[in-house]
Amino acid sequence: MSFKQLNLVDPILKALDEKGYKNPTPIQEQAIPYILDRRDVMGCAQTGSGKTAAFAIPILQLVYNKENDAKGKVPIRCLIVTPTRELAIQIDENFKAYAKYTNIRSTVVFGGVSQGEQVRAIKKGVHILTATPGRLLDLMNQGIVSLSDIKLFVLDEADRMLDMGFIHDIKKLLKVIPEKRQSLFFSATMPDNIVKLANGILNNPVKVEVTPVSSTVDTINQSIYYTNKKQKRDLLLHILENEKIESALVFTRTKYGADKVARMLTKKGSKAAAIHGDKSQNNRQKALKQFKEGKLRVLVATDIAARGIDIDSLEWVINFEISNMPETYVHRIGRSGRAGKNGNAISFCDHAERAYVRDIQKLIGKKLDVIDGHPFPQSATDPALEENKDGANKPGQKQNHNRNKNKNNNKKLAKRKPPKAKFSEKRAEAAEDKGPNKDNAPKKEHKSNKPSDKPFKGPKGKDNNASKAKGKPFKKKGGKKGMPEGLKKKMMWPLD
Ligand code: AMP
Repeated sequence: MSFKQLNLVDPILKALDEKGYKNPTPIQEQAIPYILDRRDVMGCAQTGSGKTAAFAIPILQLVYNKENDAKGKVPIRCLIVTPTRELAIQIDENFKAYAKYTNIRSTVVFGGVSQGEQVRAIKKGVHILTATPGRLLDLMNQGIVSLSDIKLFVLDEADRMLDMGFIHDIKKLLKVIPEKRQSLFFSATMPDNIVKLANGILNNPVKVEVTPVSSTVDTINQSIYYTNKKQKRDLLLHILENEKIESALVFTRTKYGADKVARMLTKKGSKAAAIHGDKSQNNRQKALKQFKEGKLRVLVATDIAARGIDIDSLEWVINFEISNMPETYVHRIGRSGRAGKNGNAISFCDHAERAYVRDIQKLIGKKLDVIDGHPFPQSATDPALEENKDGANKPGQKQNHNRNKNKNNNKKLAKRKPPKAKFSEKRAEAAEDKGPNKDNAPKKEHKSNKPSDKPFKGPKGKDNNASKAKGKPFKKKGGKKGMPEGLKKKMMWPLD
């Protein structure tokens, strides 16, 4: 099937041709006709499947058909909400590229940077707004963004939204966007809580699904190196000796770990940088740009920072540390092998991570290729345990004392109620300080990141400013749920 057969208008076809898109991907082939038909869609598609274009192309066409020639300041017609800044930027870049030969305007808002430029763009008037929840709510609260003319609403990467604790922000948004709208919902996985959320947003949706839930892209070679924790750095250097690896995205569990690996690589002469939640947005964007331009060979990233990274030619993903959440593995390796290109995913597994590998293999329904005969094989017993055992046998009482102290602390921690979820992006980033599994996170990393143990206190004028909205519902004409009467009459687009 060609894009032309999907009845797309010439300016969009021209832009797609310029992007080098020959044919629609399966998710595009399925979703585009329904969206053009103004149906609500529930899309189950993994990253790399072309899902952004699957919603961006038909949205542009719907807006084009109605408003391409609109004069003066235009109201926001379409809102796309996505969990991370990187992803938001990426989506807006796609919209801009596909809209190149139209008069449709779009912009993106996200936290972590000053709002001035974003406010100016909105004030000029845009048809399409892509946003992360915190900054969006903040701008709405300030009266800068109005969503009362929204006809199309997209919730992207819904599963990550929930993982990151954005549920309250989503609920706030749903209260203010018009009930009469077309909604599109995309998620890589569809567990029960996601289906429940979708049911609350969508109206008689069609379901489009390109791959079974949690399956991994077939074009990615997935291999695993069993090694010892302390030898992972040498193993990484050894693997990077392979000149075929022009660039690689390396994942660590923690921000501290990402910095450490990037520093080590730089010291050894590799051009490397780290991106994570503690880096400023500008810093992250700069590193990403340099990586895309080939000025950096290795980008070391934490999961949250890496979300939304879309690098057309990325062939190598290296899991320096394996996440205890198998879905994370699917998201990580989906950074390579995009849109049918070949990709390679290498995972380093130490003793403590063996159980995670079992979970991953169960989830993806296949075994990873084990690479034997490398110079840093895993020892029969965990050297870390041996070290502990030696320590325990020593006559010094201090270690036992510390162990008891830790035990007591753990008991206290177990009793402590989790802090109320407030600003999820910040909280999720803070979680990266600790790593997803506290028990297995290296002690050093805990020490260096003590502040993250404290409950998140609140915003500092950034993306997380949504807390200011707490208790202050958005003003809505008409008071009750739904559209104000005047607007209802006016709203003849595109659902008329
Ligand atoms: P996504 O799943 O939206 O993150 O897209 C993954 C990658 O596929 C992006 O780099 C897109 O530019 C690219 N892409 C999307 N649709 C197509 C297509 N029909 N043909 C070729 N590449 C595509």
